Amino acid sequence: MKIFTAYLAHETNTFSPIPTNLAAFYEGGFYRPQESPPPAPGASEHLLGASYFYEEAQRRGDEVVVGLCAQAQPSRPTNRKDYLQLRQWLLDDLTAAREGIDMVLVMMHGAMMAEGCDDCEGDIIAAMRAIVGPDVPIGLLLDLHCNITPTMLDNATIVKACKEYPHTDFDARARELYALCAAIRRGSITPALGFCRVPMLGLFQTAQDPMRSFIDAILLREETPDLCSITLAHGFPWSDFAHAGASVIVYADKDAALAQRSAEAIAEQFFTLRESGQARLSSVDEAIDQALACDDGTVVIADIADNPGGGAPSDSTFVLGELLRRGVENVALAYIWDPAAVDLAFIAGEGARLPMRVGGKVSRWSGSPVDVEVEVLCLRTDATQQHIATGPTPLGRTALVRANGIDIILNDLRQQPFSPQGFVEAGVDPWTKKIVVVKSTHHFYAAFHQRAAQIIYCDTPGALNADVKHRPYQHIRRPIWPIDPIERLTPPGKAT
Ligand SMILES: [Zn+2]
Repeated sequence: MKIFTAYLAHETNTFSPIPTNLAAFYEGGFYRPQESPPPAPGASEHLLGASYFYEEAQRRGDEVVVGLCAQAQPSRPTNRKDYLQLRQWLLDDLTAAREGIDMVLVMMHGAMMAEGCDDCEGDIIAAMRAIVGPDVPIGLLLDLHCNITPTMLDNATIVKACKEYPHTDFDARARELYALCAAIRRGSITPALGFCRVPMLGLFQTAQDPMRSFIDAILLREETPDLCSITLAHGFPWSDFAHAGASVIVYADKDAALAQRSAEAIAEQFFTLRESGQARLSSVDEAIDQALACDDGTVVIADIADNPGGGAPSDSTFVLGELLRRGVENVALAYIWDPAAVDLAFIAGEGARLPMRVGGKVSRWSGSPVDVEVEVLCLRTDATQQHIATGPTPLGRTALVRANGIDIILNDLRQQPFSPQGFVEAGVDPWTKKIVVVKSTHHFYAAFHQRAAQIIYCDTPGALNADVKHRPYQHIRRPIWPIDPIERLTPPGKAT
């Protein structure tokens, strides 16, 4: 078989203060066949999300053509000119490869918006469909924080998202999608779509019950004869557009009634978990109180509202300021994105002591800058961390500074902490500390929970603040929970 694969991903937070241009994609990860050396088998990490399909094609002995692969850290909608450029590159790559093509396997995020285009995935998949015609299967792999649109479903043959949050299962889902599209191409499966909207906005963590048991039940149900694929799309609540929210996508072999019935049943179950499936959140005061009361080891506080992995600046000072005010010591905190402070630390050099104004710069949701006397402990230009889904990912220049017993890792490349190893590479072992603060919503959990004495989710003001009711939405579809008091899904929210 001849496969075309590509990757274009951006999780768009319309409430983010960070603008998005082409340079953000070059910074986040970029591959173009015309500009980059071909990937070697087993060393395809620079293909980012397309590496799953590339590796599977290699394993199967299929011919594979790789097109554009690019991602940017979550932020505001991409500016129109640069979005059209990325789109054109991707479509040009497909056009060049279309002769004899058997299937197209693309990974995108599912919540990408650009100026003048609210549904970039639908826009691009529709254009790809026009290039390859109606008979070539197009498989679209998404992050589960996707906002599903009719245009995506109409133009992709199969839309499938990861099932785990933290997202540890892209590889498994990519292989399933590959096998499914290959079976469709051979004519042994004819997929029929079932779809059901779930009008709710939230973040649902799959590592703990009740979501864990729910996901396990879905994995089991997916093995039912004639059911080809089940996707629980959690939605991305910070994309302010009509299709924001959760949904369920089911494909059954030749049986649209079975697919629709299954989608509606799963949607009803999902809706019953709208409160119990979400993490309990603490205020800054409560989080620090709980951490100080724990004597069993290192406590991890997640500063969920300032997670750059959801479009926040990663420079807010609400937690840092309160730790300093209370005089709490033996703390490590990462990463505060503050290129100006990093510059000063590099000029001063390791061992230097200097006054420093830290964080609180990008928007009013960043809080006030914090003025402290710091000691520069460690400067690195090459620190990396293991990404949750792909390989090592750079942290930019890192400056570890100590202020009043709090070790702060400053950097100049927005990045959420995925692993303790990122702390170690920047110069501090997090497990020697009483409290570790991570600017991450939940992905940190995959590599931190094994040794953490306790994990506390702390909600602060910020671009990812959890208070849905006070977010200034203008375009979402109503009614939607928890803004509106929906008791149960009746009638189920079918595709519109
Ligand atoms: Zn996600």
